[in-house]
Amino acid sequence: MDIKDMQTIVSLAKRRGFIFQSSEIYGGINSCWDYGPYGVSLKRNVKDAWWKDNVSTRTDMVGLDSSILMAPRIWEASGHLSNFSDPMVDCKECKLRYRADDIDFDKCPECGGEFTEPRQFNLMFKTFMGPIEDSSNTVYLRPETAQGIFVNFKNVTTTSRKRVPFGIAQIGKSFRNEITPGNFTFRTREFEQMEIEFFCEPEKADEFYEYWKNRRFEWYKQLGIREENLQLREHASDELAHYARGCADVEYRFPFGFAELEGIANRTDYDLKQHMEFSGRDLSYMDPMTNKKYVPYVIEPSAGADRATLAFLIDAYREEEVDGDTRSVMKFHHRLAPVKVAVFQLMKKPPLKEKAEAIFAEVVQHFEAEYYQVGSIGKRYRRQDEIGTPYCVTIDFDTLEDNTITIRDRDSMEQERINADTLVEYLKEKMS
Ligand code: ATP
Repeated sequence: MDIKDMQTIVSLAKRRGFIFQSSEIYGGINSCWDYGPYGVSLKRNVKDAWWKDNVSTRTDMVGLDSSILMAPRIWEASGHLSNFSDPMVDCKECKLRYRADDIDFDKCPECGGEFTEPRQFNLMFKTFMGPIEDSSNTVYLRPETAQGIFVNFKNVTTTSRKRVPFGIAQIGKSFRNEITPGNFTFRTREFEQMEIEFFCEPEKADEFYEYWKNRRFEWYKQLGIREENLQLREHASDELAHYARGCADVEYRFPFGFAELEGIANRTDYDLKQHMEFSGRDLSYMDPMTNKKYVPYVIEPSAGADRATLAFLIDAYREEEVDGDTRSVMKFHHRLAPVKVAVFQLMKKPPLKEKAEAIFAEVVQHFEAEYYQVGSIGKRYRRQDEIGTPYCVTIDFDTLEDNTITIRDRDSMEQERINADTLVEYLKEKMS
């Protein structure tokens, strides 16, 4: 573990334009964060990698983008209106609030004050649809994307021609009025989820549950998270929701300890059956091969885009001794790196600038690239190391003579001289 505390990553994220506090010039707003130029690329790459690996390269998955505001009955059917609340306690002295299930002491750790009795706190944000603010117009910001998938199950099966087993995937914003947000972007009140509902025959559910647990665990490893910082934690039977047959969390070793990145659950046929009851519609599935009619079971791998991005940021961070100096470097997997290649010119002389611009124009057709000219070459490398750019290319006077360029590798810091015409091929090979 190279990160000693969250502050190291919060500072780097701000200094290099990954993540800023929201509304900063107005003093900020608790637990809201804005992704800056490199942060938005990093998070988009996380979401793109998830979509590509789980949806577009598979024949048994389709995508969906359902709305954030939905019929309030959905939240009655899902149980969110009645159950979606965390018990909480307040310190009677200093008024700090804690989740009752997070504390294992009798007195407030801040001031030693007494706690109130635990109270329920509904986590859904409420608002009104239309101009009249009364209870008949109350709607909720969705607290998860999953329900949008369940209520579209029939639409998708009849239009996509997919046959069970198959999955529906969705990426989108969710909102929870969390009692104790914090740890940077780990727990916020507005966040993005990446969710899959995988529908299968009840008899196959245990098999698919095993499959998705392994597959989702491996995904984080494939994208560069070190295995020693990951664990798959199976829930004990007393931790399971009453309808769930199994649940496991992929956990990451954050600076504050192991915590959930993603949950994978066997939710049985609970959700579809609830929506059948509340909507009065038949959501069962007729297998066209066997003519068997049943309500499918669902395996749900449910991940957070912001939490995953935070884990990738933390895990990428390294401090290395180089010639008596310490360099900090973000060793992102190349698929996630916000910039794959930075193009420099040695000096601001016009013929070098022209050549550098031409090389940038070519390379940016294939990779996320940056043309960057401020500061000495040493300073530019340090900046690109902290952004996590795998390759830096420098154009110098020899380039004008023999068309060669210097290419520097982020991880080994080795430099190679190659022909500029082979640059795109070179990068493709290195980052395949
Ligand atoms: P936790 O116990 O941490 O509150 P949860 O078990 O309630 O999480 P789920 O409902 O399973 O979370 O949501 C699935 C995923 O969505 C989580 O694994 C996490 O990555 C993400 N997520 C949930 N709540 C938040 C939040 N408040 N901020 C950021 N991401 C979140």
